[in-house]
Amino acid sequence: MLTPTKTMLHMARDGGYAVGAFNVYNLEGVLAVVAAAEDEFGPAILQLHPEALRHGGKPLVEMCLAAARNSFIPMSVHLDHSASDEDIRLALDAGLVSIMADGSSMAYDDNVAFTGGVTALVHSKDGTVEAELGRLAGTEDDLTVPENLAKLTDPDQAADFVDRTGIDALAVCIGNVHGTYSGEPVLDFPRLQAIEARIDIPLVLHGASGLSQEMIGRSIAFGVRKFNVNTEVRQAYMSSLTARLGESPQPDLSSVMGSAVDAMKSVVASKIRLFGTSGKG
Ligand SMILES: [Zn+2]
Repeated sequence: MLTPTKTMLHMARDGGYAVGAFNVYNLEGVLAVVAAAEDEFGPAILQLHPEALRHGGKPLVEMCLAAARNSFIPMSVHLDHSASDEDIRLALDAGLVSIMADGSSMAYDDNVAFTGGVTALVHSKDGTVEAELGRLAGTEDDLTVPENLAKLTDPDQAADFVDRTGIDALAVCIGNVHGTYSGEPVLDFPRLQAIEARIDIPLVLHGASGLSQEMIGRSIAFGVRKFNVNTEVRQAYMSSLTARLGESPQPDLSSVMGSAVDAMKSVVASKIRLFGTSGKG
């Protein structure tokens, strides 16, 4: 059932778990996330990156909303990393009211003004806003941030930011990166604990692909209620396509799409179990 993102995050806080937000690009991705969530009886978020939104437009948003509505599991549909008013407007017009306002590349006061503006607009539609403070290194779709430009979230600034913008969830930068980690991930848990002590809204961790069970557990203990997973699901999709095309130059298309759904579904299901969400639907 289509459920507001903030309701899902508050359910997660009450239940001591976190919800996975899985980036989807097309019907196969949507089918994989819904099937995994239903098999695991665990809530999940269908997440669209602005690149996917621009490619798929209103039909893609409507497909995600319909899939969430038709599921017996609580699901929401969320727009990831948006810095453009045009993308946000397109999403809102299509009925998607859960938005990440990403002003993390802006100067602090500009981020506050941008995020506050988006929050007022989205709240007027009863929606949910996630925003980011600090800056994540790594690559996601069309955006690459080199490591030397990454910035960790400052706990005091986080408290001021939440106060001034009225956001519903805060994405933190504590050493997490977009894409693939080079070497073992190193997360700054004392920083996460300090952030959690100063603000009382749910926290979000991007770049959850490749984090160990221990890191996931500690993140949840310090207030993370949403993990974003993109890389591993995308890799499962591409590997499945490559394997099937390697087997035969002209495979049956429906069967290729089915294999891709199965490959993504198994990654999503393993994350739902890892995040402690199984059985919480
Ligand atoms: Zn992200």
